[in-house]
Amino acid sequence: MIFNAWQIWNTHQRNLQSAAYESENLARSLAQHAEDTFAQVDNNLIDLGERIETDGLNPPQLARLQKVMQTQASNFPQLHGSFVYDAQGNWLLTSNGKPLSHANNADREYFKYHATHNSNTAYIGKVIRSRSTGDLIIPVSRRLNHPDGSFAGIVLATLYVEYFRQFYNNFALNNDASLSLLLTDGTILYRRPYIESAIGKNISHGVLFREILPHSEFGNAILVSQYDNIERIYGYSRVERYPLVITAGLSKKDVLADWRNDASLFVIGGGVLLAVLIALGLVLIRQINHSVQTEAELMRTRDQLTLINQTLEELALLDGLTGLANRRQFDIALKNELTRAARNERSVALLMLDIDYFKQYNDIYGHVAGDQCLQQLGRMLQNMANRPDDLMARYGGEELAIILPDTDLQGATVFAEQVLEGIRQLKIPHSGSPLGIVTASIGACAQIPHPYSDTPLGLVNMADNALYAAKKNGKNRVCKGDLAE
Ligand code: GH3
Ligand code: MG
Ligand code: MG
Repeated sequence: MIFNAWQIWNTHQRNLQSAAYESENLARSLAQHAEDTFAQVDNNLIDLGERIETDGLNPPQLARLQKVMQTQASNFPQLHGSFVYDAQGNWLLTSNGKPLSHANNADREYFKYHATHNSNTAYIGKVIRSRSTGDLIIPVSRRLNHPDGSFAGIVLATLYVEYFRQFYNNFALNNDASLSLLLTDGTILYRRPYIESAIGKNISHGVLFREILPHSEFGNAILVSQYDNIERIYGYSRVERYPLVITAGLSKKDVLADWRNDASLFVIGGGVLLAVLIALGLVLIRQINHSVQTEAELMRTRDQLTLINQTLEELALLDGLTGLANRRQFDIALKNELTRAARNERSVALLMLDIDYFKQYNDIYGHVAGDQCLQQLGRMLQNMANRPDDLMARYGGEELAIILPDTDLQGATVFAEQVLEGIRQLKIPHSGSPLGIVTASIGACAQIPHPYSDTPLGLVNMADNALYAAKKNGKNRVCKGDLAE
């Protein structure tokens, strides 16, 4: 996109630059043409003046001069006519042969100029209408001097404005282009496109005459015309030997017309492309957003399912009343621990606990209090687990079971004693028990299981037997079960 914009700008600048070259070249060649056109006529004047000043104006001389002037007029297409006036402005000679005896040109600007300026340069005047033919003409004149240097009259040549019109029309240019031939004081001598009212206008207040021409003989500039307000790329050039200036202006609008078409196509094409890209981008972003949302939803659902699964798993493995492992978990854990202990040849211990006189407790305090008593014991046991692999379970009813991996019989007995002491410390009142508080009995056993012959059931039976022994021996105690029993 940036490259395109740069390219468009570059083409714009190149078009303006080549128009600047074109208009400058045109102005410079028209300046050369103007110089040649005026110089041809001026040379005639020099020739005539020299003859008059040398030979005087007696009748035979007049007749000879008349012939010379006639030849000159027919040789140069730009030459409308040539004239000789005396110091009073009376017509002495004309190239068309019939001087108007009564005519006097002392009122013409060029006449007044020469009468008051003793200079041997040619004077170019503003466009006037010929008194003899009615044509628009440009006067070029020179002063004649008496031998003592006093004013003797003037020689005048007039150039057809029409000559310039035809010549300037030869150039193929757009309608808004302009070509002007001007005096250095800013007066228009001829301007294409031709409008009679333009001739004689003065544009010296414009930028070209005020700011540019004082410093520069030729060049180019983008200016708004003083005459018709059209912005043009102007080439300008002074004429070297005469007080003349040429301007050639190409309308900026015309110069940039093709570029503008190309640029609009470029911009429209680029715009459409950009719109398509944006639309595709938006669709893509929507798709991405959509899939991000879907993914987030899936993650949420997955998390929810995981949570539900976990809860279900816990529900399936925990005892609802005490929060200890339930019988199912106990069975699985015991089996795993036995296998592991057999593999590692390590001892695994099992404690079976039964609350003493619990039937009476229920009878005395009610079933709800019995449940609360069970819960209290459960909490206490849970807190007593030393190692992560120790498992406290509710085996059934008011019987609890404890699996202690990596524990021998002695360690198991110590732990069992701590449990019983813990229960006694709870000091749950029990009027049906001889001690007045809730107590329990524990059967403890431990073994390094043999991989095939030792089963969970064997271990449970062993602990159960020990428990039975504890009950039989007075309750509130630990009895050890061993293989011998
Ligand atoms: P012993 O000292 O010989 O153990 O006598 P005991 O009264 O505790 O007798 P046993 O262990 O046979 O009694 C089981 C009683 O425990 C039966 C029942 O009333 C009570 N029990 C079993 N499970 C629950 C239970 O979940 N909640 C309540 N409140 N009581 C239970
Ligand atoms: Mg029991
Ligand atoms: Mg009991």
